[in-house]
Amino acid sequence: MKKVELLAPAKDLGKALIALRYGADAVYVGGLEYSLRSRASNFTLEDIKTLVDFAHYYRKKVYVTVNMVFHDDDLKGIVDYLKTLEMMRVDAVIIESLGLMALIKKYAPKLECHLSTQLSTTNSLAVEELSKWGADRIVLAREVDMLSIEVIAQRCKTPLEVFIHGGMCANYSGRCTLSNRMTNRDANRGGCAHSCRWNYHVYHGTELLSKDDLPFTMSSYDLRATPYIERMIKAGVASLKIEGRMKSDHYIAQVTRTYRKMIDEIEMGGHLDEKRLAYYNSELDKAENRPSDTGFLGSSKASELFGATQSFVSHEYVAMVKDFNLSNGYALVEVRNKFSKGDTLEVFGPDQDNEQFIVEDMFDEDGTIEVANRPKALIWIKVPFLVKPYYMLRKVAL
Ligand code: SF4
Repeated sequence: MKKVELLAPAKDLGKALIALRYGADAVYVGGLEYSLRSRASNFTLEDIKTLVDFAHYYRKKVYVTVNMVFHDDDLKGIVDYLKTLEMMRVDAVIIESLGLMALIKKYAPKLECHLSTQLSTTNSLAVEELSKWGADRIVLAREVDMLSIEVIAQRCKTPLEVFIHGGMCANYSGRCTLSNRMTNRDANRGGCAHSCRWNYHVYHGTELLSKDDLPFTMSSYDLRATPYIERMIKAGVASLKIEGRMKSDHYIAQVTRTYRKMIDEIEMGGHLDEKRLAYYNSELDKAENRPSDTGFLGSSKASELFGATQSFVSHEYVAMVKDFNLSNGYALVEVRNKFSKGDTLEVFGPDQDNEQFIVEDMFDEDGTIEVANRPKALIWIKVPFLVKPYYMLRKVAL
């Protein structure tokens, strides 16, 4: 069985390094320009270069999204940008424009072209044609069901990338103007305001139609493809992609590590029965999450996906380990959220499963403290077992 790639998102350099340390084979990031998340990106070209050097050292890959829907004005400077990415040895660009693909083949031919889900590729004919034009990989539309993924994988040699986790659009693969209309921010040029997730009241004339006066939302459930991972790997899908470039360090770490473990178990010949799936799902629940569903994987006609209003967090991320003093058992941690003496904390890391301890002693530069509540503060905390930099501490949310 060919090894599948686990592909994770990152909004900035710190998150990208976390994704790679927690088991991603590759990360995808957006630069300050030309990306669908450009409004929120913190990735300078220098950061991308640092990331590529780090990733390549560990034989991992970096893909850069150049996937906004280009209008002529947007094309200014694009050739220089592509040449720069090629020079930095970025492994691939994720693009939605066939025009851009032609430019890449001409001016930056060492960059692989991965065709974005924005192209809504849903069948083997399209995959074959796009690969004849130069596509090195196709990201299938989220609206393709599992059986169709298997058929496409069997019929086509072109590597396929499939979304397995994260936010879904209420509209077809993000082809949406809701945000443009509501906020004047163009969802397809990096400005989505997530207007589909707002609460609405529906009127016919002056008559309120919203049921029981409750607000209506078009917010879709998040995708969680755990029951289908085994079939995707067996079908020969090249890359399993996590969505969430706006998510927290803890989300990136927990979701990436959970799928890493799942993939490793399958690739070592394991079978995910209901008990194993329940375990992995409970691990994913620990990440900051909204209600989830298998999306269109069960059926391309799935329609019971709207109404995801409340979010829930089963575990709250409270600190990241920066250092550990072996001689006295104290860890230097950076505080992210409030915790107190007497709290039970769970520790996890790239090579560490959930181990718990009760906070018995902690101090900062002014002495002993009872409560850690200053975000980004560095404090020392007694931990009864070895912890390493990048391990995370979390507590069960009430
Ligand atoms: S407003 Fe909603 S449906 Fe439209 S692009 Fe944004 S997330 Fe997708």
